[in-house]
Amino acid sequence: MRLSIHQFRIVIQATVPVAIGRGLAALLLLLTAPVAAFLWLRGARVRRTPRMGRHGALVMEQTLFNRAGAPVALFHAFPRLVNLANGDLCWVGPAAREVGPCDLRTEKGRVVASVPPGIFSTWKLRQRTNVAYGTQKDIDAEYVRTRSLRANCGILLRSLLASLYGGETRGALKERAHILGLPLDNLSMDQAIDAIVTPAAHGRLRQVSFVNVDCVNLSYRDTAYRNALVNSDLRLADGIGLRIAGRILHSEIRQNVNGTDLFPLLLARIVGSGQSLFLLGGRPGVADDVATWAQANYPGARIAGTAHGYFAPDEESALIERINQSGASILLVAFGAPRQEKWIERNAGRLLAHAALGVGGLFDFYAGRIPRAPQWLRELGLEWTYRLFQEPGRMWRRYLVGNVLFLSRVMTERAKRQLGIGQIQEQVNS
Ligand code: UDP
Repeated sequence: MRLSIHQFRIVIQATVPVAIGRGLAALLLLLTAPVAAFLWLRGARVRRTPRMGRHGALVMEQTLFNRAGAPVALFHAFPRLVNLANGDLCWVGPAAREVGPCDLRTEKGRVVASVPPGIFSTWKLRQRTNVAYGTQKDIDAEYVRTRSLRANCGILLRSLLASLYGGETRGALKERAHILGLPLDNLSMDQAIDAIVTPAAHGRLRQVSFVNVDCVNLSYRDTAYRNALVNSDLRLADGIGLRIAGRILHSEIRQNVNGTDLFPLLLARIVGSGQSLFLLGGRPGVADDVATWAQANYPGARIAGTAHGYFAPDEESALIERINQSGASILLVAFGAPRQEKWIERNAGRLLAHAALGVGGLFDFYAGRIPRAPQWLRELGLEWTYRLFQEPGRMWRRYLVGNVLFLSRVMTERAKRQLGIGQIQEQVNS
């Protein structure tokens, strides 16, 4: 049988990177043999964990444990070079799965099982930076469908960089995380959406606020804003800064729940639910463009109405009347912080929607006015660097000064706690 040039290229593309990956693992195994021998003499031993391999075959993932039964620091994944060399695992692939029924009946299941699991994966990378929304299977299937040598190199590089933020979430997650005096509802993206679409038991409007590093800094200067945050029914932790702070302050954050990622998921959720959104804010025309985008991408999701965010105080009552008349169940307010949170708090009693969310500059992204950072930057928790690059004149103070200020506040808080100064406050908080 003769292969065409096209088929030949496909075969080469499929086999050469795999061969290089396995060869590299074998070479590393050889080069590091003296270290392995040294660790073995110090009592380290290999443990094998059963995992689901390609097409559901059983593979034994190897990990190095020390005499005390803990994974060997830095070198715990060392013996996985054997898994890599024999082809049970590959450098980058779908995340390794626990042994269980292998789903080869669904298309997605077959796609995921068609390649060996990887030491590095999009799922683990996103978990590390708190942006693993959706299920592991969905993310793995998306990876397999779009994989390429270049994409794999990117995942590998980003995983190495993201490891600087620390490992996976440690210990049990608390329902509330306390960051610099702000109590945060430690929800996953899915749980946050559940809460937003469910009317509150008290029957009044549920105010939802996203809290990022800039918001925390702002709350130090603006007491009315801090009060609006504290009085919100839900405060959601937005961005990598809060995750890092949570780690430093032993108050781990479950997931990066930000408005921009939440919006399409919320649209998907309200399809066929009878609920609808009102989009308030942005320059004239922006909210309309977002509505057009939403209808095109989520045809069943109902947008009850839109209004821009540049109205005079004497137009406010008519605007609220219009929002109420629209019958919207969820109101998105995009005036930027702190204006939107204060506005929602002040008008909560007059609004008939069951939830109102302060969503900042979100409309500008979905209207296509400001491009959003590419996925690879978001996966690294570095979306803010893109915003800084887009509008350096406006953003340098927020990010360059703000991030340093925030980190110094977090470190001071930690030092205080270590000295026992903050313990009384902690007891009050919990
Ligand atoms: N905005 C508004 N009315 C105002 C001031 C601002 O609707 O009186 C809008 C503005 O057009 C922009 C958003 O509020 O779309 C603020 O975006 P920014 O990026 O400052 O908010 P962030 O996400 O940083 O809180």
